[in-house]
Amino acid sequence: MISRILHRGDFFNLGTNLMLCFLCGMTSGDPTTGSAFGLMTKYPLIDGHNDLALMLRILHDNRLSQVDLHNISKVATDINRLTTGHVGAQVFAAYVLCGAQAKDAVRLTLEQIDVINRMCTENPELELVTSAKGLNDTKRIACLISIEGGHSIDSSLPTLRMFYQLGVRSMALTHTCNTPWAESSSTIYDVYQRENDSLTDFGKDVVKEMNRLGMIVDLSHSSWATARAVLQISKAPVIFSHSSAHAVCNHSRNVPDDLLRELKENGGLIMVNLHSGFVACHGQANVSIVADHFTHIRKVVGSESIGIGGDFDGASKFPLGLEDVSKYPALIQELLKRHWTENELSGVLRHNFLRVFKEVEKVSAKGTRARCFCSL
Ligand SMILES: [Zn+2]
Repeated sequence: MISRILHRGDFFNLGTNLMLCFLCGMTSGDPTTGSAFGLMTKYPLIDGHNDLALMLRILHDNRLSQVDLHNISKVATDINRLTTGHVGAQVFAAYVLCGAQAKDAVRLTLEQIDVINRMCTENPELELVTSAKGLNDTKRIACLISIEGGHSIDSSLPTLRMFYQLGVRSMALTHTCNTPWAESSSTIYDVYQRENDSLTDFGKDVVKEMNRLGMIVDLSHSSWATARAVLQISKAPVIFSHSSAHAVCNHSRNVPDDLLRELKENGGLIMVNLHSGFVACHGQANVSIVADHFTHIRKVVGSESIGIGGDFDGASKFPLGLEDVSKYPALIQELLKRHWTENELSGVLRHNFLRVFKEVEKVSAKGTRARCFCSL
């Protein structure tokens, strides 16, 4: 029954998209429009960051029974728009505010994992996955769970390990607050200030334990010093799940060129953030300025280090033409216009993330699985 529904859905989407392509081609005369849909049908996007779960808490107190996930108002993400946007996999953030640090962050994080879990197991269009193979093989929209902010583990490796058991496959080391063991790119919160200690010995143990478990280390929101310290010790590739190029927009959340080069050495990935405040430091953000970030990063480290982490529902302003998750084809269309090749775009859309995830799993499998930091 489920597969029949999906096939019917696929057929409908294909038909709708062909119609849209046809109309776009007719109205704009743009020969690349059709190719963007075609390419994304062949290589559905793996999006590195989305905060729908946070919005479900804010707007609906996580009461999923009151929400039709196909069509949700006041947010930028729902099943219908993910389908229209050719999103094949979405990394959903389990995020709790920094104000919960050292208080109820662990419980609140569990509740956010629960809402993602229910969302992705109670709807036939979605599937919760926990491996690169599961991610690649599913015919549904894959969901991956990521924790956004190390304050969620309350400085406890056992808690980190239990989050892994619950399906979490990635964690950002900080959000906008320092943790006792890692430093944030933001100075909004005046907590755990320290000089020249951007990743403490315990912070190094967190990274080693994530390597051992097979959890992707996410450096978005970390300070550059913390990111560099992690890149020195991580045995597995790391990601910036939603950060853009500092050379194009000099915001502290973005990644400078020298750090991009270190990331390339590590085999990791920067998944470009679409939030207006990070892509256009001055003036109106649009599809073109977003494409400038891709072009710049490609020039510095090559397309194989690039992915997409939209950050929808994690910020309020998005570029003209990229207002929600249904609009991703407009970005791919712009990159095609700039002569990005199919090979480059298949990597950006999907294969680069899969490569990193597989490598993280490989490091975990062949590494130190038998030894854990169990005294901690
Ligand atoms: Zn974020």
